[in-house]
Amino acid sequence: MQAVETPHKKLENKLIQKKNMIGLSEKELYDSILELKIPEKKASMRTKQLWSWIYCHGKKDFSEMSNIDKVFRSNLKNNFSLERLKIEQKEKSLDGTIKYLFSLNDDSKIETVFIPEKKRSTLCISSQVGCTLNCSFCHTGTQKLVRNLTSEEIVGQLIAVYDDIEHWENSKKTNDGLSNFQIITNIVFMGMGEPLLNYSEVKKAVMILMNDKGLDFSRRRITLSTAGVVPYIKKAHDELGCMIAISLHATEDKTRNILVPLNKKWPIDAIIKTLKDDLKLRNSERITFEYVMLKDVNDTEFDAKRLVKIIQGLPSKINLIPFNQWVGSGYERSPQKKIQAFSQIIRKAGFPSPVRAPRGEDIMAACGQLKSSTIKKRLNNA
Ligand code: SAH
Repeated sequence: MQAVETPHKKLENKLIQKKNMIGLSEKELYDSILELKIPEKKASMRTKQLWSWIYCHGKKDFSEMSNIDKVFRSNLKNNFSLERLKIEQKEKSLDGTIKYLFSLNDDSKIETVFIPEKKRSTLCISSQVGCTLNCSFCHTGTQKLVRNLTSEEIVGQLIAVYDDIEHWENSKKTNDGLSNFQIITNIVFMGMGEPLLNYSEVKKAVMILMNDKGLDFSRRRITLSTAGVVPYIKKAHDELGCMIAISLHATEDKTRNILVPLNKKWPIDAIIKTLKDDLKLRNSERITFEYVMLKDVNDTEFDAKRLVKIIQGLPSKINLIPFNQWVGSGYERSPQKKIQAFSQIIRKAGFPSPVRAPRGEDIMAACGQLKSSTIKKRLNNA
């Protein structure tokens, strides 16, 4: 007979679940080891060793950590885990983009997209299960189930992808001079969710990603994308120093209220004001704006000119994103000619305005197409 996991059994499993070391801050890791009753000095040495095994070597098993004595290794094994996110599904696009569907401990699902390019590769990660913002053109917003991800689940996305693309083995080869374009150079918080509505866990995760004794992503290679949670823009910029991208998508409030309902709380003026007045941009630093090109909604020459006026005086780059279609959206992508004309007006005003090439469209992995199948499955099982 097949074993059935009763609610009681599920709870029991949860209670005996060991603490995952992935996603703990350095301080938390240190404090947890201290609980194993070792002297403080030793604990700080062990923290350094563990950090390197976990984030430089990708070890999944304490028994492989050769510079830690056997007794302590088994002590660690009894109390902690290095458990990975479960890959529930993996789809590869014709252009090489890979979409991962991860299953979390509470059975909710998130998506992560790996976008390899010749000279750089980007990992697009999620910060929440679903999203509360309900942007009218975004597929993720149609998913009802929403919760914040923990730092373990945020960092866990990179770790699981590193395992899958055999990064730990390959990065060693790269040190020997062999080029490996698969190496992830950039991390963008442009998957599911609004990172600035889950600031504390996102902050913790970013600090781990940037830690130079481990994953070592420079602040310039991490981008937090936000629909405009104004009070947290300055906070994120000051505390993390990573790049900020603003999902603007419209040049006046009436349209933006419909596209990005969060605009009713923090309108365009408020966003621009905090960028201009509150952020101390470093030399050569600029703000990225994302602007989805929607046919007959926000794509006129007039819009382009108004956009230029809005960002005047602010070092900016405007990424134009051709709308990625999904069934039932009610929107269409602007024609290529219109996108080019729009871009040209912005470029003429002195701002870079690249048109983003859609990636992974055939597997619904492009911007705004992410939506895990949780709900669908729930409905099917009902
Ligand atoms: N909540 C954050 C993070 C999501 S990032 C934010 O709003 O910035 C995802 C980016 O893709 C955002 O700029 C979003 O507006 C854009 N996007 C969403 N749906 C899209 C679609 N169907 N086509 C193109 N871009 C889309």
